Amino acid sequence: MWGVSDTMHAAVIHEAGGEFELEEREIPTPDSNEVRIAVDACGICHSDEFVKAGTYPGISYPRIPGHEIAGRIDAVGDGVSQWSTDDRVGVGWHGGHCFTCEACRRGDFKMCDNVETTGVTYDGGYAEYVTVPAEAVAAIPDSLDAVDAAPLLCAGVTTFNALRNSDALPGELVAVQGVGGLGHLAIQYAHAAGFETAAISRSPDKEALAMELGADHFINATETDPAEQLQALGGAKVVLATAPSSDAIESIVGGIGTDGTVLVVGVPDEPVSVDANQLVGSRGAVAGWASGDARDSQDTLEFSSLREVTPQIETYPLSEVESAYERMIQNDARFRVVLEP
Ligand SMILES: [Zn+2]
Ligand SMILES: [Zn+2]
Repeated sequence: MWGVSDTMHAAVIHEAGGEFELEEREIPTPDSNEVRIAVDACGICHSDEFVKAGTYPGISYPRIPGHEIAGRIDAVGDGVSQWSTDDRVGVGWHGGHCFTCEACRRGDFKMCDNVETTGVTYDGGYAEYVTVPAEAVAAIPDSLDAVDAAPLLCAGVTTFNALRNSDALPGELVAVQGVGGLGHLAIQYAHAAGFETAAISRSPDKEALAMELGADHFINATETDPAEQLQALGGAKVVLATAPSSDAIESIVGGIGTDGTVLVVGVPDEPVSVDANQLVGSRGAVAGWASGDARDSQDTLEFSSLREVTPQIETYPLSEVESAYERMIQNDARFRVVLEP
């Protein structure tokens, strides 16, 4: 930072339910196990509401949100050997782990008892700089722009990792429920992975887009029973539920085929009730999936680059964080909102 200002701009939340305050902050110094990233882009995600509303257990303030970070490493802690300055990197929801708990000893870092969450348990990417543990960092392929990489580090890895860890094989029917921030990426991944891909939406105006993104079928859930439609196609091996609505999830359980799964990645506020007959009859399941660790994120970025999966985004400067956040929370954005600090 020679000859350069040692302060940065950041959008800070000071209390549960508080508004964004645009502040000058000291540029953070990385600890020995950390790197500092100069942030080129940071996505705004619905999960940032945990920070703004204060609904995340144990969260402390002030806090800078943001867990869809893409940028360049500009400083490296003494203990870090695998990253160097100028590396293009990103960080997602998984913000680090302890390496010593039982889950970590088994290599299941996402289930770490002491897991860190970017922009929640430590300051995130609604800022010009951020420091993160080295194990939370994913390399960004050269062909991916920072603004495109950012949403892939949460919405992307969540859907890509859920699908690739499911039982679905190429050629089998995979349905994506909801054509929004998660769904528009999931359709692209499902198509690129070789699944017969059905998009389910309550908005008939999303049909053209869904087909353009690679869907083989579009199911209009306002005019037809989506479960019946899926059964007419042979029954889904996986329904990836991206719309955070318990009604929508309940309406689709009857659409799974033998050994099918409704895989929930968009979390409704209210409980989901399920007709157990439908599960017993299909030997099916309703299950959940949460994002991935840094290597999963890097796999997502690499696959996205390989198969040209790109998010549809709106970009805003950090100074417009308030209105950018409103676009996201009101569900007006098409489809992911990205800040460029
Ligand atoms: Zn997110
Ligand atoms: Zn651990």
